[in-house]
Amino acid sequence: MNKNDIVNLLKTNNTKSLFETAYAVKLAEVGPYSYLRALIEYSNYCQRNCYYCGIRRDNINCKRYNIPLEQAKNIIFGINKQKYASFLIQSGENTSKNFISEISQLIEYAKNLNPNFAIVLSVGEQTKETYKKWFELGAERYLLRIETSDKALYNKVHPPEMSYENRIRCLINLKEIGYQTGTGNLIGLPNQTIESLADDILFFKKMDIDMLGLGPYIPCKDTPLFLTGKSVRIQKNFDFALKTIAICRILLKNVNIAASTALQTIDTEGYIKGIKAGANVIMPNVTPDIYKKEYSLYSDKSFVDDSQILNYSKILHETINPSLKGTPLHYIESTSSRTENKEKS
Ligand code: SAH
Repeated sequence: MNKNDIVNLLKTNNTKSLFETAYAVKLAEVGPYSYLRALIEYSNYCQRNCYYCGIRRDNINCKRYNIPLEQAKNIIFGINKQKYASFLIQSGENTSKNFISEISQLIEYAKNLNPNFAIVLSVGEQTKETYKKWFELGAERYLLRIETSDKALYNKVHPPEMSYENRIRCLINLKEIGYQTGTGNLIGLPNQTIESLADDILFFKKMDIDMLGLGPYIPCKDTPLFLTGKSVRIQKNFDFALKTIAICRILLKNVNIAASTALQTIDTEGYIKGIKAGANVIMPNVTPDIYKKEYSLYSDKSFVDDSQILNYSKILHETINPSLKGTPLHYIESTSSRTENKEKS
């Protein structure tokens, strides 16, 4: 599949056929499973100032919180009781010693409780040493969206102190350390072209990533992009996000692809539609309500109702069981071929 093919698929009106093809690739490559990761939105303090994001540093209307460490441990305790094999800690970006130590303590706590826990981190750009430390303590997956692979657009939606190159460097570091590495993009940013979305998909392929989190952009009030965003058509972003999931499934085959919370925010069947377009991961939000409503990356996020997810098994005719770890087959296959190559040489 070349860039032209991807552009044509992104433009297609025949989504039924695109989604059916993607779903068939999903069944053949990763089987009739959708994996769950319990999502903990740990803190909305953020050092960054991304122009699209509601928890950006300069948003004075965002009520800041850190979940106290003991409470976060209790949440993890509860997740373990519910037999979740994997959970995700997501947070605003914070490189303070204190934050790094808290994440370390949570990893240690979780691994003591259940040595098999697959811990996913999504806490932004950190030094290689920090990534390494968390990996050695037992975190095994990391999500860091590139947001857009288009450098000019990246610079339009981020302040000058943020560096596109550093974000890529972080992804390379995560892979070198041995994490199951995930990235992804925002779909429908103001001034984003279809060609640029096609390049994002090729970027995921080139980076040989294991996991993808693809999400429609949803304008957020109190952010600099909101005014430009007024002309953004959310339904169009949703449709492009589903097409992107489908194309990524067809092209990247055995990676894990999440149906994002942003999909479910736009459409009450967002998760289901994402799965039917080829995704195989859902992240039910287990953050206590008082915090959840403040983790406002975009407007109206708090209306998502995750209580139905376990019933999706029947609707989708898939196995959806929290106790399945669901390591990306792409990771398993690429690490075993790396070892084979080493053995041969
Ligand atoms: N600090 C972490 C986690 C960021 S929040 C990091 O840098 O990776 C997780 C994701 O929310 C971001 O990667 C971004 O893609 C998404 N997000 C932020 N604002 C959004 C918006 N307005 N609409 C949709 N998604 C948004």
